[in-house]
Amino acid sequence: MSLLSVIVPCYNEEENVPLFYEELLKTEPFFREREIEVEILYVDDGSGDRTVEEVKKLREKDERVHLVSFSRNFGKEAAMYAGLELSGGDYVVMMDVDLQDPPSLLPEMFLQLGQGYDSVATRRVSRKGEPPVRSFFARMFYRLMKKISKTEIMDGARDYRLMTRQMVDAILSMKEYNRFTKGIFGWVGFKTRWLEYENVERVRGETKWNFWKLFLYSLDGITAFSTAPLMLASVVGVFFCIVAFLMILFIIVRKLMFGDPVSGWPSLVCIILMTSGVQFFCTGILGQYLAKTYMEVKRRPIYLVRERL
Ligand code: UDP
Ligand code: MG
Repeated sequence: MSLLSVIVPCYNEEENVPLFYEELLKTEPFFREREIEVEILYVDDGSGDRTVEEVKKLREKDERVHLVSFSRNFGKEAAMYAGLELSGGDYVVMMDVDLQDPPSLLPEMFLQLGQGYDSVATRRVSRKGEPPVRSFFARMFYRLMKKISKTEIMDGARDYRLMTRQMVDAILSMKEYNRFTKGIFGWVGFKTRWLEYENVERVRGETKWNFWKLFLYSLDGITAFSTAPLMLASVVGVFFCIVAFLMILFIIVRKLMFGDPVSGWPSLVCIILMTSGVQFFCTGILGQYLAKTYMEVKRRPIYLVRERL
């Protein structure tokens, strides 16, 4: 018998916990046929509603349901890390509880894994039901990342992914505090098969992400998997030096040929504003990396457990 662990991060998802369970159970015959035991690990990310109670109710009926509950909200990244750390399966799959990662895809993913892959990942090819502005910025983010990062980060990739124990252990060996799982998957490598599907909207409740949160998350992704922004200061600095040199030449020649005294402070003001703006911007970038380093150096735990069943 081998074991498949299903990791489900939940944050205020009381309605979805039992719905997800029902839906996942539908795939059970497939796994029973192949002598694979399935366990479900709900990771409660410090929910304020009845999520924990709902999981406990399921656990009373079904021994294969497990719960780990955080002391507060640590974010989905932390929940996924905890899930990987606490799961014992030979195969591990991560899924959202809102059924946006359809459990019906799981048998297909499992069959693909058997074809000699280390992981089977999913990506959505459409962004149906998402605000257009968000889709636009998401696309821009992936295009930018492609340019500035060596790590492959797939556009539209979901965290819905089936992995072998070997790959899970590789991910767990990356103990960084600022976690950006989409990048971590790419960084560890291994043979990955991509499955595509149309976007599914969540069954109940609301998304935990707003535009600002997503924006900050994308900055996390950039600082975690690229140091290209740090180059910006040097590049702009060199460019400005060249421009300054040409302008000095121009002013000297003009003075010698026409005796024209340097006029016009507006241009001077513009130049000062422009250069100081660029300087602040570059200092800001430095600050971002420094802040991340600071948090990393503290070596705080990624999550804290309040209860485990
Ligand atoms: N989630 C979490 N902690 C958080 C936010 C979200 O564990 O701080 C879980 C949430 O319960 C869900 C999954 O992460 O199972 C995806 O969240 P959501 O559906 O809000 O994101 P979206 O699908 O809109 O990107
Ligand atoms: Mg969702």
